[in-house]
Amino acid sequence: LRVGQRDSGGPERLLDGSVVLTRLEAAVNWARKYSFFLYPFVTACCGMEFMSVAGPRYDVDRFGAALPRFSPRQADLLMVVGTISHKQAPILVKVYNQMAEPKWVLAFGVCAVSGGFYDNYSVVQGIDTLIPVDVYVPGCPPRPEMVLDGLLQLQQKVKEERWSDWPRGQAPVSRC
Ligand code: SF4
Repeated sequence: LRVGQRDSGGPERLLDGSVVLTRLEAAVNWARKYSFFLYPFVTACCGMEFMSVAGPRYDVDRFGAALPRFSPRQADLLMVVGTISHKQAPILVKVYNQMAEPKWVLAFGVCAVSGGFYDNYSVVQGIDTLIPVDVYVPGCPPRPEMVLDGLLQLQQKVKEERWSDWPRGQAPVSRC
């Protein structure tokens, strides 16, 4: 095209398909959704299924959530796996608050989702009474396929996030 000549095809046409144009936000979200660093907060029998998800048969590595981090400061995906008692609640909130933003939470198993059948004085009736939850995976325990489906749903959520969604802020300790 000569200087001053108009083209109706937009910048893609001018660049002749030799580059990919995107928003910076979309590119960052794409990278984030394929690079979760998960912190497994494992308290009960759902832990067996977590090991299965992380093992070679179901291979969570395929979705970019390969290596668990055992420091909350190095993790951005908190997987709460199992029953949470009221005594454990302050520790869970502390771990969540120590994670840097952006961060996400997956409730793994019906005990984490709602307390499950432990409807009694000692068990937290759903971790969303303590911290924000992004994905709920019910089941007692959930099958590994359900957990992987939850991970895919979280990826979709991360893909659609805006930078203005962050920071969420600290979870209040007073709820414990
Ligand atoms: Fe155990 Fe079932 Fe609760 Fe998981 S959901 S921690 S398997 S009782």
